[in-house]
Amino acid sequence: MEKLKVSEIKKLSKVLRSKHTGSRLPFRASEIERFAVKVEVDAVTGCWNWLGGLNRGYGSFGKTSSHRFIWKYLFNEIPEKFDIDHLCRNKKCCNPAHLEPVTRLENIRRAAAMITHCPKNHPYNAENTIYDKHGWRFCRMCRVNYHRWFRESCEKRRSQNH
Ligand SMILES: [Zn+2]
Ligand SMILES: [Zn+2]
Repeated sequence: MEKLKVSEIKKLSKVLRSKHTGSRLPFRASEIERFAVKVEVDAVTGCWNWLGGLNRGYGSFGKTSSHRFIWKYLFNEIPEKFDIDHLCRNKKCCNPAHLEPVTRLENIRRAAAMITHCPKNHPYNAENTIYDKHGWRFCRMCRVNYHRWFRESCEKRRSQNH
């Protein structure tokens, strides 16, 4: 585990922010010092693990989360209706290289794609996966089973009535 090098982040911030002319930080520049002491760098994965308090698994920093803070520090703003997605799937991580702003829907789809089996444990492979027109995934076996169950229960009811 290594400590975060604040001077390097400051340099990075200067380079990135010079592209947004006239942009001002939405907080005091010294906040980065407070941020850096709560981060430990994982030498293997490169993740910047948050050592401070957590909120729903994400690092919490002041009124915001630690990964949103670092994004704002470097790029000044997060586009409206965008979430910051963790490409490394480590919620505690705030390495900007592991983050990417995505729309909320895209974020949900990505999280769903990490699930390889349906709730009944059928694999989401090429043969067993159906996509609807919105790109949502469904398990083919469960669909078939559901339709069969539905048909059978209809037939049972019909035969009971006669
Ligand atoms: Zn990471
Ligand atoms: Zn299934």
